[in-house]
Amino acid sequence: MASVIILKSPSQIVIMKEANQIVAQTLSMLRDYIKPGVTTLELDKLAEKFARSKGSVPAFKGYRGFPGSLCVSLNEQVVHGIPSKKVVLKEGDILSIDFGVKYKGFFGDAAVTLPVGKIDSAAEKLLNVTRGSLFNGIEQVRVGNRVSDISQAVQNYVEQAGYSVVRQFVGHGIGQSLHEPPEVPNYNRNERSAKLLPGMVIAIEPMVNAGGYEVKVLRDGWTVVTSDKSLSAHFEHSVAVTEDGPLILSYGTES
Ligand code: MG
Repeated sequence: MASVIILKSPSQIVIMKEANQIVAQTLSMLRDYIKPGVTTLELDKLAEKFARSKGSVPAFKGYRGFPGSLCVSLNEQVVHGIPSKKVVLKEGDILSIDFGVKYKGFFGDAAVTLPVGKIDSAAEKLLNVTRGSLFNGIEQVRVGNRVSDISQAVQNYVEQAGYSVVRQFVGHGIGQSLHEPPEVPNYNRNERSAKLLPGMVIAIEPMVNAGGYEVKVLRDGWTVVTSDKSLSAHFEHSVAVTEDGPLILSYGTES
C-alpha cells in the first residue's frame, strides 16, 4: 500500500455517502432474512441483487479472487467467511455480514453482526461491546487527533469488558480504492500514526473476540477464525473527518 493519504473534496464525500448508503440499506434489508433455515448463499444473492438494483457494483466479488459479494462470518469466524449453500443459519448463532459497493467511482464499506433468532446473554454482550467499541472509536474522529486515538479508544473499551481485539486485520482508508492508507488498527501499536485531516475517509472496523486475540485463516484461503474457537463479532462504519467532527457515511445499518 502506498503511504499517501488521499483527501476527498466535499463533493466526493457526497458521492461516498451515496455509496455507503447503498451498503447501509443492503445490510438493513438483510436483517429480515437472517433467521434459522436460511443459507449464507441466499443472503449473498439478495445483497448482490439489491446493490445492483441501486446502480452499484458489489465491491468484494472477485476482489483478490473472493468468490462472494457478501462476507458472512458465523460464530467463531471473524471475517471473510465465504457464502455457501451448505451453511444454514440456526437459532442462537451470531452472523457478521460485511458488504461493500462501488458507485460512481467510489467505494462504500460497512459491517454488522446480527443474532439468529434468540441468542444467549454472552453472545448478546459481545455484540453490544463490539458495537460500543466502534462508536467509542468514532468519537475520536476529530481534526487534530491521530489514528492512534481511535485505536486506543477501541482497545480500551473492548479490554475493559474482558474481550480482546484482533490485531492481524485492521481498518483502512477508503475512496476510489477499497483499501487506501492509512491503516486503522483496533489496538495501539505504540507508533506515530497519521493526524486526522478534513477530507480523510476511513473505515473503522473492530473485530472483537470473546477469548484471545489470535486468529488463523482456514484452508479455503479466506475464512478467518479465532484460534481458541471463541465467539467473534465485527462492526464497521465508513467515516469522513470533517471540521465538525465525524460524519458516519454508512449510518443506518442498525435500522
Ligand atoms: Mg473494511
